[in-house]
Amino acid sequence: MEYKKILMQPDKKIALVAHDNKKQDLLEWAKYNRNLLAHHKIFATGTTGSILEREVGLKIQRLQSGPLGGDQQIGAKISENEIDFLIFFWDPLEPQPHDPDVKALLRMAVVWNIPIACNRATADFMISSPLMDGEYDRLVPNYDEYRSRRITLE
Ligand code: PGA
Repeated sequence: MEYKKILMQPDKKIALVAHDNKKQDLLEWAKYNRNLLAHHKIFATGTTGSILEREVGLKIQRLQSGPLGGDQQIGAKISENEIDFLIFFWDPLEPQPHDPDVKALLRMAVVWNIPIACNRATADFMISSPLMDGEYDRLVPNYDEYRSRRITLE
């Protein structure tokens, strides 16, 4: 398979999302890593974003609340290279009204090969990675072949 490179800048565009039972976890993680996060551009779903702004003082571009379209907005931004990093503490023990959106967001992250952390341990390893603060060439499959696939019409 052929790949294309997408350059991730030293200042990453990071999306933060947490389901209600995981918001405390994300808050503690963001407080602890406040200084490391400060120079990156932070996006978040509505409620997660307002908690983090209020409690951590991070400057955040807030989107819709997740169940109202926020997860889909993040997915769309990933596909447009406006987000290149996802911290998504989803709740494995509670069904969500927007389960299809959750699945779609995780899928977009894999389609575009962006780093995803779904729990604190992974987020800790990611944020302390030496790759975090430098340029990084992300390899994405060359989807031109898919775009130009033959469709048989009647
Ligand atoms: P919220 O959305 O931050 O607006 O609560 C989170 C989610 O995607 O469920």
